Amino acid sequence: MVSNAKCSFTTIKPVIAENGSNKQQQQSNNFSKMKTMHWFYNQSAIDIAATKPSVRLTPATLLYAGKSPDGSHLLRSAQYLQKELPVRIAHRIAGFRSLPFIVGCNPTILAVHELYIKSFYTASETPAITDLECEKQYTKLLRQMLNDHKDVVTQLAGGFRECRKHIKNEDLVRSFLDRTLTSRLGMRILAEHHIALHDEKPNYVGIINVAMRPKELIEKWCDFVTNLSEMKYGKAPQFKLNGHLNSSFPYIETPLDYILPELLKNAVRATVEAHYDSPHLPPITITVANNDIDFIIRISDRGGGIPHHMTNLVTQYHYSSKTSDRYSDRGIFGNMLNELNESGSTMHGFGFGLPTSRAYAEYLGGSLTLQTIQGIGTDVYLRLKHIDGKHDSFRI
Ligand code: ADP
Ligand code: MG
Repeated sequence: MVSNAKCSFTTIKPVIAENGSNKQQQQSNNFSKMKTMHWFYNQSAIDIAATKPSVRLTPATLLYAGKSPDGSHLLRSAQYLQKELPVRIAHRIAGFRSLPFIVGCNPTILAVHELYIKSFYTASETPAITDLECEKQYTKLLRQMLNDHKDVVTQLAGGFRECRKHIKNEDLVRSFLDRTLTSRLGMRILAEHHIALHDEKPNYVGIINVAMRPKELIEKWCDFVTNLSEMKYGKAPQFKLNGHLNSSFPYIETPLDYILPELLKNAVRATVEAHYDSPHLPPITITVANNDIDFIIRISDRGGGIPHHMTNLVTQYHYSSKTSDRYSDRGIFGNMLNELNESGSTMHGFGFGLPTSRAYAEYLGGSLTLQTIQGIGTDVYLRLKHIDGKHDSFRI
């Protein structure tokens, strides 16, 4: 294929300091460390972008945008992202800048801040997307950016944990993390949607599954969590599904692929740890309800409930109860994995499962609520709005 010279994306500089300095040199001594901090706060292109409003789309707009044989839908989608992503990234950079100084200086948080600055330039210094060859190059860039940002949740969880002792104001952590994580979710959905528009997958428009069956998705994550539980505890409770199990409707699986395993892991962990001595583990019951406006997934466990003194704490970032002593010494492997949690493949860890799931649910126009009966168990209600455009919708 003939490459299109005007669309050469190779000219993008990975990190551009406006004073012309090079990042590696800046980090070489103390003096340059001060220069680095200066660099973080002096980026006029970012300041300008941060003043622009973000243009958020309803999922129905994505769903009904249509597909044209000449690929013009791909061009339109890429042109929208090219304008929109730098603005959203600039808003987040403004968020990093307004963190208390001692928090913003944490090396892990600083590394994420720097990654956002790098992505800002990568996303904003792309040549105009005028034809499908440019669009192809832009899509490649989106893939790269998604990959660059894949560990951001783990990094933020680790960074904030390190400097938590310096933070007096709990609301500050919550609002920063809520906004950063939900904005990241929105950008990932838009970027993944654009990439997926290239695929011909039955039942899908981009990343929207036009006939998502909640039952299938729930079963997939039940299997995943069962395997994890068997690896960690040597046993796992059964899952019982009921309700509107034949329902199917358009939805985006991306957020559910985060929320469902987190809620199921919590229910399984509570069940196994509360019934350690019993030969029988009570099943976890999952109810699906569907109506015109929203759909609800209720996960009911008999894991003993959440003690009174913890009920207000569990939806705070970083609140995680210790594993019962009986399980905390099940081999160095298990403990090492716990330390490294948030890859999604450990039973619990940073205390990010509930707060992040709640932030995602609210971003999607829904809610996550808990009803716990101390001594018996917990019901978690995940409520999410439909995206078919028939009723008021959230915007991504
Ligand atoms: P993590 O699982 O990493 O600890 P979460 O945010 O998922 O973080 O949960 C926070 C805490 O809430 C857990 O450590 C646990 O003590 C409590 N919790 C969550 N779900 C349940 C449940 N279904 N039953 C009992 N306790 C729960
Ligand atoms: Mg959890």
